[in-house]
Amino acid sequence: MQSFDVVVIGAGAAGMMCAAEAGRRGRSVLVLDHAAAPGEKIRISGGGRCNFTNLHAAPANFISANPHFCISALRRYTQRDVIALVDRHGIAWQEKTLGQLFCDGSSRQIIDMLLAEMGRAGVTLRLSTRVDSVERDADGFVLALAGEATGPVRCQSLVVATGGRSIPKMGATGFGYDLAARFGLKVTETRPALVPLTFEPALLERLKPLAGIAVDAAEIGSGRTRFREAMLFTHRGLSGPSILQISSYWREGQEIEVSMLPGTDVFEWLRGARAASGRRALHTVLAEALPKRLAQAIADAEGAAGNLADLSDKVLRRVAEAVNGWRVRPAGSEGYRTAEVTLGGVDTVGLDSRTMEAKAVPGLYFIGEVVDVTGWLGGYNFQWAWSSGWSAGQAV
Ligand code: FAD
Repeated sequence: MQSFDVVVIGAGAAGMMCAAEAGRRGRSVLVLDHAAAPGEKIRISGGGRCNFTNLHAAPANFISANPHFCISALRRYTQRDVIALVDRHGIAWQEKTLGQLFCDGSSRQIIDMLLAEMGRAGVTLRLSTRVDSVERDADGFVLALAGEATGPVRCQSLVVATGGRSIPKMGATGFGYDLAARFGLKVTETRPALVPLTFEPALLERLKPLAGIAVDAAEIGSGRTRFREAMLFTHRGLSGPSILQISSYWREGQEIEVSMLPGTDVFEWLRGARAASGRRALHTVLAEALPKRLAQAIADAEGAAGNLADLSDKVLRRVAEAVNGWRVRPAGSEGYRTAEVTLGGVDTVGLDSRTMEAKAVPGLYFIGEVVDVTGWLGGYNFQWAWSSGWSAGQAV
C-alpha cells in the first residue's frame, strides 16, 4: 500500500496551499481530487481574474458561530504574505474598489502559481480520483480510492479541503461535512451565501421592466448589518455586490431595506428642486442621480408624473421613501446553483484554531470553505483558504 505523511482531499485554493506548505516542510504529500482539473473555482473566480485577497482583510469580515476562530490563522498568514507570494511569481495585480486585489491577467495564473509551489515541494497530485472510504487505525488513516488511480493509500495526517456545497455543477459535494460527522464532529447548518435574492411572482411582474438596471452605490440593510455597494435589478429579483453581501445575513421571512441614494435627504433635495424650477418633471430631476428608467418607474409608481410644482410635500415624501426607504421581503435566494459560497460547515468548536486539527481526532484537519468560516464578498474567502491552508500545512 502506498504511504504518505499527508493526504489532502481537494485540490482547491485551501488544499493546494496546505499541500505546498507541508511539502516545503519536508512532508511527503498526496493531493486527491475527483475533478479532472485542479482549482476550478479559482479559475472562474472574480470574473476570470481571481480576487485573490483583500488589503483590509480582518476577522470582522468573516461570519462564523465563533467569530474569534479565524483570528489566529488570519494573523499567521496574512494578505501581505499572499501578496508577497503572488509577487514572487511575477503575477501583475491591481486594487479595484474596497481593497479588492485582482490579477491583471487571468485567474489561471493563481492556479499555475499553486501548481508550481506544489511541484517545487515535491507534492503528488492525483486528479479524477474519488475517495470511497476513510478508515482510521493506530497508524493513521487508510483511504480506499476509485477512479484513474485506484488502490488504497495510507497517511498519518488527513486534510479535508473539499469546499462547500455551492455550484454542484462543478463537483461540489457534501463530502467534507459527511466525513466530519462520521468522525464525530459537529456540523452547523449550511446555506447558500453570496447569492442573488429572488422575489415572488407578483412583485417580480411589477419590477420586470427594471431588469438590467444597476444602482452604483445602494445601501442594503438587514437588521443591524448594512453594505453600500452596487445593486442590480434582475429577471428574478435583486443581485449585485451589495445584495450578495446582505444575502449572508438575510433569513427567510425577513425584509431588507434598500436605500438607492444613501446619504442624500431626498425629500429636501426634491423640495429644493421644486422651489428652484417647479416646471421640471419629477422623473427628470430624479434622473440626475438615478438611472433614467428607474427614475421614471419611481415617478410612475408614486403617481407623480406631473411637474414638481404640482406635487405636494406629501407626494415628495412618498417618493423620498421609495428611493431611500424601500423595504422589500425577498421570497428566497437563487440557492447553491449560483451561490459563491456556503455559510456554515464543520463546527469550529471541534477544531484547533491554530492548526485546524480536529481536537478529538488527532491527525484529521479541516480547512477552507468546508469549515464554518465564511468571508464577505471581496477576496475574503480566498484569504481564509490561504490562511487556514497554510496553518494546517505548518502542523501536519
Ligand atoms: P474549493 O475551491 O471549492 O475546492 C474544493 C476541491 O475539492 C475542489 O477541487 C473539488 O473538486 C474537490 N472535492 C470536492 N468534493 C470532493 C470529493 N468528494 N473527493 C475529491 N475531491 C473533492 N472568493 C474570493 O475570495 N474571491 C473571488 O473572486 C471569488 N470568486 C468566486 C466566484 C464564483 C463563481 C464562486 C463559485 C466562488 C468564488 N469565490 C471567491 C469563493 C471561493 O472560490 C471559495 O471560497 C474557495 O474556492 C474555497 O476554497 P476551498 O479550497 O475551500 O474549496
